[in-house]
Amino acid sequence: MVKEFLRKRSIHVCVINTGGCNGCDIEIVACLAPRYDIEQYGIYVHNNPREADVLLITGPVTLQWAERLKEIYEKTPEPKIVVAVGACALSGGIFKEGHVVGGVDKVIPVDAKIPGCPPRPSEIIETILKVAPKAIAMREKKLKNRDE
Ligand code: SF4
Repeated sequence: MVKEFLRKRSIHVCVINTGGCNGCDIEIVACLAPRYDIEQYGIYVHNNPREADVLLITGPVTLQWAERLKEIYEKTPEPKIVVAVGACALSGGIFKEGHVVGGVDKVIPVDAKIPGCPPRPSEIIETILKVAPKAIAMREKKLKNRDE
């Protein structure tokens, strides 16, 4: 109950690298630094899909990662918002000719895509803020249904 109350207006983001070069992950880490300070918007970044409102996915989805990514998606609670970050996550990028699926949307549904190699931290934050209302609305609906 306390947890739900405190989380009412926060967004929890789980970062998953499906085989990229780490360049996009470094930009995500930069979002946490004082210059961008993603937490000022109530956005918290971690690696627990069971607590995530948003899955932030980097990398081209290697063949080894495909099944695992589906499993992680299944574990994620509704509304299961997925954001593909970077050229690799969008279409395979520089790994296109390798042992990769070649894009997150070939494995799970994607709500938003951020192009770039890598995208800027400001673009990553902007996109999370765009999808955040969907997560907040879903949480409020759940709380309302429970209270009725
Ligand atoms: S999009 Fe560019 S920076 Fe991001 S994982 Fe692919 S190669 Fe690396």
